[in-house]
Amino acid sequence: MRQSNTALWVDGWYRFALRRVSSNFGSRPLSAQIDLIVLHCISLPPGHYMGCEVQQLFTNQLDWNAHPYFKSIQGLAVSTHFYIRRNGELWQFVSCNDRAWHAGVSNYRGRSNCNDDSIGIELEGQVGDTFEASQYETLSALCPAIMQRYPIAHVAGHEHIAPDRKTDPGKGFEWHGFQNSLSMDSRSLPFRIVMDSPSHRQPVQTVSPALDASSNALSFP
Ligand SMILES: [Zn+2]
Repeated sequence: MRQSNTALWVDGWYRFALRRVSSNFGSRPLSAQIDLIVLHCISLPPGHYMGCEVQQLFTNQLDWNAHPYFKSIQGLAVSTHFYIRRNGELWQFVSCNDRAWHAGVSNYRGRSNCNDDSIGIELEGQVGDTFEASQYETLSALCPAIMQRYPIAHVAGHEHIAPDRKTDPGKGFEWHGFQNSLSMDSRSLPFRIVMDSPSHRQPVQTVSPALDASSNALSFP
């Protein structure tokens, strides 16, 4: 029997994700069309993997005194929709029907405030590091499920929607492999990748959106 989309999603919650409910979210604007996926990376402290600190941050339970680095982010109230751990485990913090706080001041495809109409996916990692095969496997299963449920037209990194502030997920993320795993059209990505010539995987069209100075939304990372 064919599985329906409604079996995969209940009120914006993905069936195959572990729920780690965050209170850091709001309503999307009524006119929002959820057509963007934003990829990020995060680890707490940076470079420390498979702990509970990221979950604690997104659920407002992080002990700011537990590590010197945490002082630098003390008070941040942020979240994401999804988080993929190094072992591929998938957590969900906010319903995709709601507005998670992951993008901050941002602008992409002619629209600002990308939190309004995007779904955030955090990969456990740090800029400059590579990502695990298990993370790509989870990502390549999650994204099509999102695309079946929401009218996704674009996938971009945080570095592409806030280029003056953010560098994640960084050069360690394999955009070419990601594109191939989803058979995505280059026009859906932040730059065109030459699919048939691996030796020329050069961005030929870079999007350099202007920042929206009218927004003071915080984001991390
Ligand atoms: Zn980010």
